[in-house]
Amino acid sequence: MNLTEKDSQYLWHPYTQHKTAQLPIAITRGEGALLWDENNKEYIDAIASWWVNPYGHSNRFIADKIYKQLTILEHVLFGGFTHEPAIQVAEQLMKMLPKNQQKIFFSDNGSTSVEVAIKVALQYFYNKGEKRTTVIAFEDAFHGDTFAAMAASGISFYTQAFQGMFIDVVRIPVPVKGKEQVSFDTLKKVIQEKQCAAFIFEPLVQGAAGMVMYEADALDELIKICQENKVLTIADEVMTGFGKTGKTFAMDYAQEMPDMMCLSKALTAGTIPMAITTFTQEIFDAFYDDDINKALFHGHTFTGNPTGCAAALASFELLQTQEMQENIIRINKRHLAFQEYIQNHPKVTATRVLGTIFALDVKKENEETYYGTMRTKLYNFFIENGVILRPVGNIVYILPPYIMTDEQLQKVYDVVEKALEIV
Ligand SMILES: *Cc1c(COP(=O)(O)O)cnc(C)c1O
Repeated sequence: MNLTEKDSQYLWHPYTQHKTAQLPIAITRGEGALLWDENNKEYIDAIASWWVNPYGHSNRFIADKIYKQLTILEHVLFGGFTHEPAIQVAEQLMKMLPKNQQKIFFSDNGSTSVEVAIKVALQYFYNKGEKRTTVIAFEDAFHGDTFAAMAASGISFYTQAFQGMFIDVVRIPVPVKGKEQVSFDTLKKVIQEKQCAAFIFEPLVQGAAGMVMYEADALDELIKICQENKVLTIADEVMTGFGKTGKTFAMDYAQEMPDMMCLSKALTAGTIPMAITTFTQEIFDAFYDDDINKALFHGHTFTGNPTGCAAALASFELLQTQEMQENIIRINKRHLAFQEYIQNHPKVTATRVLGTIFALDVKKENEETYYGTMRTKLYNFFIENGVILRPVGNIVYILPPYIMTDEQLQKVYDVVEKALEIV
């Protein structure tokens, strides 16, 4: 039996209808932007393995730091204990984050970082004796698969089995070009009608929706409306964080600052699962009291794992090298050139670029669903041609590791162009 066959015997995969899905590809090794399967077929990882891996697979620098940490202290409980790697992660992040962010809370993945942010927002008002229980989120948002994160997410087939079991979430339109005013007006209306605790958003780019983009000016306006009404703002930078948009955080494009931020994915560069939620001092202070009931009673067994912290520290170091910053600029330039080249193709209806993120919409004849037939055709074509891309419906996006070479990137573009001929 090969790995794929053995897999079918035991494993249950994410987002997979096992009855109709193709068998998974068994990957046996990775290096840089490349992966190899059990038949030694080579793939270019053009989506950085779900956006986690900016510096390449099996990165030696990060691996060495992890190994060293494992030989010093692999883990210690974080309730009642602390350690240097966690403190260093905080110190480093303080230099990178918007300057109002003063406290960090560790968890394990993007969903839990969102879960923590939403619980903190709700308890913030509870602690102050104010009844505010509604959360505002964007249409087609994606914030993860745990319950509060699911409630905030707007992509319905992820959540339809659980409708009616969620905290109260009201959705507002995304302020894409031409829709800014409706978005502002809807936000104001919701705030008037409901007791709103927080507004959660993916800043500038909605990843899972298909790299839907909007401008920083519009986000500033939405944040200002929230601030005027004391609604807390949560920037979910799980996807956008650590250079993907061309700046360290998407919020760096904005004038306003959020009250909380959610970080994961590239935080540890695809090595150790870890996430962080960050807060202003003011939020922390609302939990700081002689009354133990005002504390945040949330935690995970692996909170602040030192090995994860070592991976994060190594990742920060790599991100800040001149070489990596130049890579980000290089990829952005190549994306812009490809956009220029492909945007008038008869099968292309729209293109978007921000930093290292490229997306194009393929012309569709019929209504195309998230996992529809066009999507499957495109996905299979990419895999056959040795390129890992996961289209969202009719949207093809590229989010390469920053270390992807120009030759590899050109192959990705070529395969995308060829794919337009088969749909
Ligand atoms: C992926 C993602 C999440 C969920 O992260 P997980 O680690 O998959 O739980 C949350 N928010 C955004 C914006 C994401 O892209």
